Amino acid sequence: MSGATLLKESGPKEVFCGLTSIVWLHRRMPDAFFLVVGSRTCAHLIQSAAGVMIFAEPRFGTAILEERDLAGLADAHDELNRVVKNLLARRPEIKTLFLVGSCPSEVIKIDLSRVAENLNIELKGQVTVLNYSGSGIETTFTQGEDGALKALIPLMPKSDQKKLLLVGTLANAVEDRLVSIFNRLGIDNVESFPPRQSTELPSIGPETKVLLTQPYLTDTARELENKGAEIIEAPFPLGVTGSTLWIQAAANSFGIDKSIVDSILNPLISRAKKALEPHVEKLSGKKLFLLPESQLEIPLARFLSNECGMEIIEIGTPYLNRDLMKAEIDLLPPDCRIVEGQHVEKQLDRVRDSSPDLVVCGMGLANPLEAEGISTKWSIEMVFSPIHGIDQASDLAELFSRPLRRHDILNPTKTLTSN
Ligand code: SF4
Repeated sequence: MSGATLLKESGPKEVFCGLTSIVWLHRRMPDAFFLVVGSRTCAHLIQSAAGVMIFAEPRFGTAILEERDLAGLADAHDELNRVVKNLLARRPEIKTLFLVGSCPSEVIKIDLSRVAENLNIELKGQVTVLNYSGSGIETTFTQGEDGALKALIPLMPKSDQKKLLLVGTLANAVEDRLVSIFNRLGIDNVESFPPRQSTELPSIGPETKVLLTQPYLTDTARELENKGAEIIEAPFPLGVTGSTLWIQAAANSFGIDKSIVDSILNPLISRAKKALEPHVEKLSGKKLFLLPESQLEIPLARFLSNECGMEIIEIGTPYLNRDLMKAEIDLLPPDCRIVEGQHVEKQLDRVRDSSPDLVVCGMGLANPLEAEGISTKWSIEMVFSPIHGIDQASDLAELFSRPLRRHDILNPTKTLTSN
């Protein structure tokens, strides 16, 4: 590993919970439904995060278990069964139903895996019922995807076919572009997980080579390995360098000649570097502090430091999987400080002491920091924006240069003075 300093911290946290990932998962798999088993707070979170669809039938909902139900577990199980059956009677097009656990202590006591098992026996052939936890006690917001994918893995058929499996949700257009690059390199059998339909799960076996698109899929990666797949070690496809090394790692693993890889990637790299220039001009020399939330913080810091010239003060990450993150940490500048976990008060003190130009953080911290005159970028935007791949490097940089430009416009005097 590089000379980065790795520290741990624990204390009060300020992060979104894993329910949030339903927002992008339900768009990815429109034949699936996500039923949160939770409280009114959970219902509010998911509705405000995803918006309420007025003309379309929503593909997520909350079974709000009232205190009456929670008084006895038998009642809660009955109530949940009733909600599920009503839902499926109204929505027969649902092919996969995810029961998503949440925080309230009484909900934690419900054995959702048993509920799912019983429903699978009863509803055999009509729908597959799975469960995972989105509880904020156990997960940060991106880990909801990790839980959902892990729940799908036992349903993946076996295969001995040689294939490249891209794992982690990508915007469809970005996925199409990446698949086309792999096809041009000569890797024809490329599949994605999660698929675009929950019932079209890719098969898996010892000839499956997994290329992770997202850094927060620790449990999914482990389960895929248990199924015999090989995880290709690579940085993540953010920025020109990360995306190039990511594609090269897959190409190496399939024995593709370097000259073929270079001939396809070099024009993309030149174009992307040119498109990055105006953002580098804005970002270069600016101080960046990343608070822990999405688990994308290390790849983002690597990109913003190495390709955009930002000075990294601290990289916070909710969890650090050293194996999956090794290739990323190796690329970081040697003096980087990575803090795993969070004590939000201490971290905010360090933010204030270091006067950063930009803080990447959760939505809950952004407004207070903005009120103190510190520019922020919501980390949740990284999972809703098409930022993966060589072509997308300038769009990724723009997410960070835009708040600095906005800050300049709102503080013209200060900008003139500091310039
Ligand atoms: S799962 Fe927990 S943190 Fe998330 S909305 Fe529900 S109560 Fe809040």
